[in-house]
Amino acid sequence: RAKADGRNSFRFFTPTMQAQSARALQLTNALRRALERNQLSLHYQPQVSIATGRVCGVEALLRWHHPELGAVSPAEFIPVAEDTGQILPIGEWVLRTALAQLRTWHSQGLPALTMAVNLSAVQFRQPQLLELVDRLLAEYGVQPHLLELELTENVAVADPHAAIATMDQLHAKGVRLSMDDFGTGYSSLSHLKRFQIYRLKIDQSFVRDLDHDGNDRAIVSAIIRMAQALGMRTTAEGVETAHQLTFLREQGCDEAQGFYFSRPLGAPHLQQYLLQRPA
Ligand code: C2E
Ligand code: MG
Ligand code: MG
Ligand code: MG
Repeated sequence: RAKADGRNSFRFFTPTMQAQSARALQLTNALRRALERNQLSLHYQPQVSIATGRVCGVEALLRWHHPELGAVSPAEFIPVAEDTGQILPIGEWVLRTALAQLRTWHSQGLPALTMAVNLSAVQFRQPQLLELVDRLLAEYGVQPHLLELELTENVAVADPHAAIATMDQLHAKGVRLSMDDFGTGYSSLSHLKRFQIYRLKIDQSFVRDLDHDGNDRAIVSAIIRMAQALGMRTTAEGVETAHQLTFLREQGCDEAQGFYFSRPLGAPHLQQYLLQRPA
């Protein structure tokens, strides 16, 4: 990282690194205006119960459309926003918009859905997080158990004890926590057993090749069994085929999310999707 290396090391940058940091600077500047210019939006991807086929919830996924840069992937701009602190106002906007949408769907009589919102490690460590969650739940009249905050294992790397304390506080409020991208991070199982985690989300890298990779089948099966033993639910990410779904069902995975069911959709299309699905 240029920041960590200090100014003098700039001349050691390779052309690729310079291009990367120029892009990061460009994104930083553009992001500054993204909120006020209404360039951000949320898409929602259904989470489906494997046993019943019912949609039990949606995950809110951030989209950024810039007039010149076009659509920028969250995988690219979220890390930039984390480095600059811009993730805090953006993350608050995401939480507010997702809860407002959930409120609207509930008042329209759509079946009780949960709303999963991704939380950056930077947001998770912010002292005002609990107060913000409280305030927004109250403002939109959403019951705490209908909000699921998706964390990654990285929230616990620097200070596991602080992370456990924050999870305990969120859990005490009734908010549900899920561990996103499970199996790809740096946390240890000795921490996991102390986390107030409701759900493990099995990373899509293990799901992608389930049909022809025996090692992935072994890993997915072991994650599901471990979660069951720890009293946690499991959601498989990136489910794209009926074969993958069959294997996950046989293994006792609880929920699935992926293009097999639906891509992330804008609110009106998600609503249509829900209404058109057989009950
Ligand atoms: P994630 O939370 O693990 O989200 C799942 C990603 O997988 C999403 O990419 C989704 O569009 C994609 N996906 C879903 N089903 C399938 C499938 O069947 N096949 C494949 N190949 N991909 C699938 P997306 O929307 O580009 O988001 C990427 C990442 O950016 C997210 O990973 C999350 O880490 C982050 N992100 C997105 N929105 C937010 C946000 O509001 N706040 C924060 N902090 N991070 C966010
Ligand atoms: Mg997620
Ligand atoms: Mg994930
Ligand atoms: Mg991810």
